Amino acid sequence: MPAAPPLIDAFGRVVSSLRLSVTDRCDMRCVYCIGGGTRFVPRAGILTLEELERLVRVFMGFGVRRVRITGGEPLLRRGVMRLFRAVSRHLVAGLLDELTLTTNGSQLARYAAELAECGVRRVNVSLDSLDPDRYGAITRGGSLAAVLNGIDAAQNAGLAVKINTVALKGLNETDIAGLLRFAHGRGMALTVIEVMPMGDIDVDRAAQFVPMAAIRERLCREFTLEPVAETSGGPARWVRVTETGGKLGFISPISARFCAGCDRVRVTCSGLLHPCLGRDFAVDLRAPLRQFPGDDAPTSAAIRRAVLLKPHGHAFSADALNRIQVTRPMNVTGG
Ligand code: SAM
Repeated sequence: MPAAPPLIDAFGRVVSSLRLSVTDRCDMRCVYCIGGGTRFVPRAGILTLEELERLVRVFMGFGVRRVRITGGEPLLRRGVMRLFRAVSRHLVAGLLDELTLTTNGSQLARYAAELAECGVRRVNVSLDSLDPDRYGAITRGGSLAAVLNGIDAAQNAGLAVKINTVALKGLNETDIAGLLRFAHGRGMALTVIEVMPMGDIDVDRAAQFVPMAAIRERLCREFTLEPVAETSGGPARWVRVTETGGKLGFISPISARFCAGCDRVRVTCSGLLHPCLGRDFAVDLRAPLRQFPGDDAPTSAAIRRAVLLKPHGHAFSADALNRIQVTRPMNVTGG
């Protein structure tokens, strides 16, 4: 039972989902995500696992029932399974509906069984190509074989896997049909995502960007896409692919805004609460957490303040992709 009234923003949206980043570090350097000059949060500034779990409890006090652990690469955080174990107790107690994970899959083979034991039922795995060389180039050194092993392990452990692919002009546009066949052949949904102009990472965003309509049009040459009424509650627009029977989602933050139904907030590993992924605005939760170790009221007040300032929509504009629209890169808040 929530102890406090729900978190409702100035536009009447109820916040029911928390995306919690447990590290900003990653073992990959995806060309659209992390730049050479990216600075990572100094260790002392990173919330401890206990502080992260405490934050989950504070959000649960507001009736938040879905938690997604993200990063950086969340499975690289030392001791991260202690956090999963601690949060899983709230699942068992019926106080949380869902505990999930977004991962690049590199460490999944090691952790999949334990994640399932902790009550995780589904994971999102980021995968932008099935061609080992192209995968290595996009991730700047990631191992496709390790990720595929991780997907095997996740499915063997009974986890539902969704594949997330960022569409990149001239880089993986021709790979998406193959990713779709792979995902659907293995009983996994696929979502394709437009690249967002996040972070001052010295890339030509306009050259990377491909609108979802172009991806859709390319897929329609090979597949029949049937609209489905169902929504996942998230930003994806779903279709069913007649030839495979599988589900395909399109996420179009640039070409088609989806902010009206946004029910989530994000907290970075240093305790910054971002009420909107596509804005720089944030409220610090680390200071009240650390200044008042035995009292959650100041942290709760900061959360409520941040939610009241949740903007109506993000700031991304397709007309100025090469202008730095949001200064922090995605590894800070995760997906
Ligand atoms: N390391 C984990 C992973 O790879 O899934 C979690 C963090 S990663 C930042 C979360 C997701 O954000 C990944 O699917 C990644 O492809 C996506 N991403 C990173 N930068 C992006 C950008 N500029 N635009 C769109 N998606 C991005």
